[in-house]
Amino acid sequence: MRQKDTDFWLLGLADDIVSDIENSLPDGCRLNIVNSLSAINLQQQGPLGASILFFTPKTWKMLDKKHYRELTEQYNVHQVLVLRESRQTLESDIEEMGSFLGILYFPVSGKALENLKVKAVEIQAIYTDLHLMAREIALERELLARKNMQLEFLNRILTRSSSSLNVEEILKIAGQEFCSLLGTSGLGAIIWKKENNHGVQAEIYLPRIIDKTYKQRWKETLLTVSRQFNKQEVSSYREMELPGRANMMNFFPSPLKQAIVPLYSSRSIFGALLAVSEQTLKLGRDQLQIINSAGNHLALALKNALKYREVRQQADYDGLTSIYNRQQFDKRLRIELKRHQRQASPLSLIMLDLDYFKNLNDTYGHLAGDMVLKKVGGLLLDTVRETDFPARYGGEEFVVILPETKEEQAWLLAERIRGAIGRTAFSYEGNRFNVTASIGVASIKPGPLTPGDTLVLQADQALYLAKNSGRNMVCTSADLCLGQAVIN
Ligand code: GH3
Ligand code: MG
Ligand code: MG
Repeated sequence: MRQKDTDFWLLGLADDIVSDIENSLPDGCRLNIVNSLSAINLQQQGPLGASILFFTPKTWKMLDKKHYRELTEQYNVHQVLVLRESRQTLESDIEEMGSFLGILYFPVSGKALENLKVKAVEIQAIYTDLHLMAREIALERELLARKNMQLEFLNRILTRSSSSLNVEEILKIAGQEFCSLLGTSGLGAIIWKKENNHGVQAEIYLPRIIDKTYKQRWKETLLTVSRQFNKQEVSSYREMELPGRANMMNFFPSPLKQAIVPLYSSRSIFGALLAVSEQTLKLGRDQLQIINSAGNHLALALKNALKYREVRQQADYDGLTSIYNRQQFDKRLRIELKRHQRQASPLSLIMLDLDYFKNLNDTYGHLAGDMVLKKVGGLLLDTVRETDFPARYGGEEFVVILPETKEEQAWLLAERIRGAIGRTAFSYEGNRFNVTASIGVASIKPGPLTPGDTLVLQADQALYLAKNSGRNMVCTSADLCLGQAVIN
């Protein structure tokens, strides 16, 4: 780099000294004669150029000291004290003036000026090096801090996501961590399964968005992501809401404001995350790498959670009807009996048995029977409340636990179920037929703990009564005494 000129600033010097310096001015030096500090213009000073201020002790006394310190300390203007040999300056005065590049005696020698210039340039070069080093260190520190943040992000994603076996929970964690690293405001996801006969079946996970239009845009974006990866449309999907506070979310996903992270498992992609920001999302290469690594961790955690859900599904649900199985019924009944006792609330149980089901199998085939069982399972799910608990008890028998439900209400619900089954037109391989159900209802009022077996037994007896009284009807345990009399 070419060395810049060195500026000599002569401040309030007598004419004879000025002309003396002018006559001996070394090469590469520029002379500036000024009468005040504010006349010193440092704009022209380049990174390698130096500035030297020449003044006499008399001038020093009149200087604005604040301005002087600013020039010397902040802008590295070197100072040279000019003395006439004949006069002496007190050492204490010199000390007060701060550190000097040197003292110049009058009459001035060219050599002395040259020495001052060389010294100033050398010091300036050191300053410049230091300045560059300091900048490099600052940049390095910034880079380290960024790397550190990214590593912490990865570490947190890894530990937090692998500690959960719940798909929604893992996605919620991903949303929080992406927000802290990238400043995104929401995260959604799509997970798909490709089946030969059924095409692409997807699960769409959305943040809690209040506005339907915005929600729709999130959904469409996720479906588009699936189409792009799978080269085919999603044939059916389930929509799920992620846990968390309801979000006004008045912004759409759009190409400049979103990051799509594919979820890989054994080299194939089974879904994608969609992180959306309110502002334009500008990601550096390092950030892209880090979110892809996070994507790999999350993919693994999600795969595990999906597998776990599938296994649980198999263990807790009846394989044919997809409603809860007998084990889950037994477990839930124990819980509800305890709650009924603790909260002194009523509890009812419905037991349902399809009528002449053996005949149906014999007439239309076992597969037709299976189809009916599936449909009845679905009907139960559609008819009961969220808090009710329908399950397949075994064979063509179903049960529904009705917490906080009195006998009359349970009877009403049982009637509704019986009606819904009876009205359903079943068809299988061109055959159309109807099915009826007999239902027994048992209820317990708030009181001492009733064993689960007793409640089941009572419902079973009521069901038996319904069967014996002509089928396609609902009997309650209260009918039993009367019923027994009728039967006997
Ligand atoms: P009722 O009106 O007295 O209840 O007569 P039913 O024929 O329904 O009763 P039964 O107990 O004699 O026969 C029950 C039938 O349900 C016999 C059995 O083959 C059939 N079944 C049990 N589980 C299944 C199943 O998973 N699929 C099919 N298709 N049939 C089943
Ligand atoms: Mg039966
Ligand atoms: Mg039956």
